[in-house]
Amino acid sequence: MTYGIICAMPEEFGILEKEIKNATTLSLYGRDFISGEIEGKNVVAVVSRIGKVAAAFTTAILIEKFKVDAVVFCGIAGGLGDNVKIGDIVIGEGCVQHDFYLADNDIFRIPLLNISNIPCDKVLSKKCLNATKSFCKSEKSAELCDFFKEIGVTAPAVHTGIIASGDQFISDSARKAWIKKKIENVKCVEMEGAAVAQACFEAGVPCAVIRVISDCADEGADVSFDKFVNASSLYSCAIIKELLK
Ligand code: SAH
Repeated sequence: MTYGIICAMPEEFGILEKEIKNATTLSLYGRDFISGEIEGKNVVAVVSRIGKVAAAFTTAILIEKFKVDAVVFCGIAGGLGDNVKIGDIVIGEGCVQHDFYLADNDIFRIPLLNISNIPCDKVLSKKCLNATKSFCKSEKSAELCDFFKEIGVTAPAVHTGIIASGDQFISDSARKAWIKKKIENVKCVEMEGAAVAQACFEAGVPCAVIRVISDCADEGADVSFDKFVNASSLYSCAIIKELLK
């Protein structure tokens, strides 16, 4: 069993790289695919870069070239749910491309697949949920709360629900409200999840998306994002290690 692990940005990947034992790197199309072991499990870990095209391209390579059996995406996102606050963690039940538009009465539907909500794998997502819950009870989580208390981070809550993805950084209350209105049970917004989920769905490979909330996708998003992003790999690393234990 080999897990593909994807983060979009080097900041999200950060210290996770140091956890990969017996690592070998293959550079392909400007991306470093690092194969090795974390907690004794085989992994291929990679930074996809930002956005849906980069994420789908990277996922396809993980599946086709590295033959991964499952893909876990881990990164940060803007919170959308009413009770979703900075520092909370969202596990996707499914992902919707909020910038996919066919017609006013037919938005989000992916032609041919004929679905708008790309499902994440239930079994893998449940494992991610359990791992995240145990991370939240750990000393590491308490340390991170302390580290981020300046931006109001308190003990994290874990949410499950829909993740909205699009090729836009959302820092606008009106756009945020529109996404919340149009996508039922949406919890956060980011720029890669639906692309990874769709590539995996089409290939029949289980996929899960884990997102730590870095901002509230409103006018304060840039400031909060900037404060959070540099330390975001502390979360990715702790949660992925817990998952692979
Ligand atoms: N400032 C960065 C761009 C970051 S884009 C640069 O110039 O390089 C935002 C990244 O974080 C994406 O990978 C996305 O998935 C995630 N993200 C966090 N908050 C987001 C938000 N409010 N809207 C969209 N994506 C968000």
